[in-house]
Amino acid sequence: MKVKVVKDNCIGCGACQAIAPNVFEIEDDGLSTAKVSDVPESECDDVKDAVESCPTGAIVEE
Ligand code: SF4
Repeated sequence: MKVKVVKDNCIGCGACQAIAPNVFEIEDDGLSTAKVSDVPESECDDVKDAVESCPTGAIVEE
């Protein structure tokens, strides 16, 4: 799966990083980014949990 964070919708709550730290990272601007756009199979379950947990729907699958 491929994933990205729409920064305009991110509020920097940190949930995605807490759930999938190998994929999401809060940057210096306080907002999340996907460190990898092409998510390894082993991380997909966590990424799906992060997508569901994001309060603003900022994480989108591509
Ligand atoms: S869970 Fe959503 S709002 Fe929170 S930091 Fe991650 S992308 Fe941003």
